[in-house]
Amino acid sequence: MTTQLTPLNPAEIAESLNLKPFQGKQIFRWLHQKQVFDFDRMSDLSKDLRKRLTEECAASQLELVRMSASPRSNGTKKALFRLADGETVESVLIRDRERTTLCLSTQVGCAVKCAFCATGLSGYTRNLNPGEIVEQALYLLQDEKLGEKTPNIVYMGMGEPFRNYDATIKSIKLLMAPEGLGIGARRITVSTAGEVKGIERFASEEWQVRLSVSLHAANDELRTKLVPLNKKYPIEVLMKAIRDYVEQTGRQMTFEWTLLDGVNDSPQDAEELIGLATRVKAMVNLIPYNPVSGLGFAPPPLDRCQAFRDALEEAGVNATLRRERGQDIDAACGQLRRQHLATA
Ligand code: SF4
Repeated sequence: MTTQLTPLNPAEIAESLNLKPFQGKQIFRWLHQKQVFDFDRMSDLSKDLRKRLTEECAASQLELVRMSASPRSNGTKKALFRLADGETVESVLIRDRERTTLCLSTQVGCAVKCAFCATGLSGYTRNLNPGEIVEQALYLLQDEKLGEKTPNIVYMGMGEPFRNYDATIKSIKLLMAPEGLGIGARRITVSTAGEVKGIERFASEEWQVRLSVSLHAANDELRTKLVPLNKKYPIEVLMKAIRDYVEQTGRQMTFEWTLLDGVNDSPQDAEELIGLATRVKAMVNLIPYNPVSGLGFAPPPLDRCQAFRDALEEAGVNATLRRERGQDIDAACGQLRRQHLATA
């Protein structure tokens, strides 16, 4: 049976192949730190070990189908991967003057079915394993020259991370491993659509990994339309879980708010959001919508986005208006895969 190496940490690699601990670390370093998936290039391993790895192991579970770079978006690039069973997932690298951020997927498709999301439209297929999640980051970083700067990671691609809880947690540990990318916990954010059970479990994790909740609406009527999960966990239930999380961990969390023209961008919407954000001292990340054809939503004009942010700031809520990036490469989650499925 072939051993998949990327879901394993250094000790697990050594144990599963009956190797010395240092050999497990060497192999892990090649895969995660140097993003080398060709055993023959792992030059500090003996010839015999390289031969054995080639015969018994798989270095990678993903195959890169397409990498689209956006000339208009300062090097934002989006990758589409094929998995061993033929399914596809996508992930995005967003470049900023300050930092590089990788947006990773945790599931093939998504069952949450948010009204404005291309991934939700395609339905849910399966969970990704920890190696399939981490490899997205490894491939995106392959030709990047980040030097000492480690990237930020956001679990905000395809899927609801808390519906694939254990694999998400394991993948975070792999990304943080010092023999690999060594990404600091505070540079990693898990974004949930409001899976209350996941928020409760996440509160007990002993680390500083950040939490964000995709709110998009601050009253039940609108939120149920936009995020159907709200039927199961209405806003007051969600807010209780968030308040408990903040009290238990002492960590500040973030609300994500996709700005949709004429839907959730009015002064009244801002008022309602201010009410919720103030209760749990949340920061707010405003994201102008990245249009998906056929779904009937559009981003508000820039001045309305700015007015929305200003209303929050004036009320003392720390808000950022993210510049939408990558429209020309279909960088909204699930769009590239949808196109691929339509043309396959
Ligand atoms: S926005 Fe996120 S949670 Fe909602 S359907 Fe899309 S992938 Fe799922």
